[in-house]
Amino acid sequence: MIASLGPRYPRKVVIESVRKVLDRKRRIILEGIVEESIDEKDILGEIVDTIQKALTSTLRPVVNATGIIVHTNLGRSILPEEAIESMVQVARSYSSLEYDLETGKRGSRYVHTERLLREVTGAEGALVVNNNAAAVFLVLNTLARGKEVIISRGELVEIGGSFRMPEVMAMSGAVLREVGCTNRTHLIDYEQAIGDSTVALMKVHKSNYRIIGFTHEVGARELVELAHRRGILALEDMGSGCFVDLSRFGLHGEPTVKGELEEGMDIVTFSGDKLLGGPQAGIIVGRKELIEKLKRNPLTRALRVDKLTLSALEATLRLYYDEDRALEYVPTLKMIAMPLDELKKRAEGLKEKLKVLVEDRSLEISVIPSKARTGGGSLPEVDIPSWAVSVKHQKVAPQMIEEFLRKFNPPIIARIEEDRLLLDVRTLQKGDDEIILEAFTRWTKVRL
Ligand SMILES: *Cc1c(COP(=O)(O)O)cnc(C)c1O
Repeated sequence: MIASLGPRYPRKVVIESVRKVLDRKRRIILEGIVEESIDEKDILGEIVDTIQKALTSTLRPVVNATGIIVHTNLGRSILPEEAIESMVQVARSYSSLEYDLETGKRGSRYVHTERLLREVTGAEGALVVNNNAAAVFLVLNTLARGKEVIISRGELVEIGGSFRMPEVMAMSGAVLREVGCTNRTHLIDYEQAIGDSTVALMKVHKSNYRIIGFTHEVGARELVELAHRRGILALEDMGSGCFVDLSRFGLHGEPTVKGELEEGMDIVTFSGDKLLGGPQAGIIVGRKELIEKLKRNPLTRALRVDKLTLSALEATLRLYYDEDRALEYVPTLKMIAMPLDELKKRAEGLKEKLKVLVEDRSLEISVIPSKARTGGGSLPEVDIPSWAVSVKHQKVAPQMIEEFLRKFNPPIIARIEEDRLLLDVRTLQKGDDEIILEAFTRWTKVRL
């Protein structure tokens, strides 16, 4: 019987799985505490399960029912279909990655996105690297190594995953000069700190926290005006880097890349996979001669992006020629823009289907208002109204249901609030309702 597995699965995995299952059986039998099945069919079933587990990717699709749109742990942005198609095409064939089709000579991989970025943001120049952390690092290393850069104490941010502004600066070779206080920094603080070795004033987006109460920060325009008056650079790490004004969706306070460039910032950096809704990338836009300097830094080669990223980013950026197209076809923006009444309808629909399917009468299913978030270092502490399907069991703790869903195939990631499980519909994709229904049907069977 085991021999029949041979042609279906890699030999190495079969042998390891057989060994694992038999070892486990032996141990249980020797301990003699519980009765263990030694039926051949059961054993074979266990072996097949173990093989399949070993062959499943650890990086796999999940259902995001958290309501957090740019969820860093769940892969940030879902790509637009256009970007996926473009990646598939480039992956399948040779491409013009670094080949100039006009001249027949070697070209640059950076031209593919540079023109689009210039057109969409109004910048003179643009460069794409691996992620925004790399972008900030490259900018500081190229323009400020051994020199001072002034930043407000209120903006020395730590983004998860050990990106800490002071440490990135230290690694880049730039010298950090902190000014102001945590809650208040004034223009005069920057002004008094400018010395002979100061090359830039830098603004950093407060991506994952807000300072409220007695506060003051210096805006982009004032900062730029001061920097240029004193003959130094104005740099900005925007974090998320949004292209669309989100205030019409009730989300205030997220500046746009174009807006910051219009205020006069010399260099602006941001992520490709946060509010922009594209692939992981670090995008640097700004003055042409500075961008040229960045390109000449040997580090750029080490931080460069691959062809799949470039093709996905190019396709994503193209959607931004027309803002309405971006709002419709970039999933991240679409989820933000989704009207509340549509979400309520979706939640009601899911609830009804669940009620029909799920036989467990002690499961209380209802629709309740929820709070979604953009996440991913944008608009911290700003709630987006949403709707969720709430699930509560008379006898089973919500943590148990959460675990069951998380271990389902495909996994469903939900959140627990006030002793009930919430499935926020704002982040659900097409087809996710069916997966959730399947999971709960299975839940009922396991429970019965
Ligand atoms: C998210 C973020 C980063 C890091 O960007 P990655 O693309 O994840 O490397 C850096 N700075 C700020 C302000 C951020 O919000």
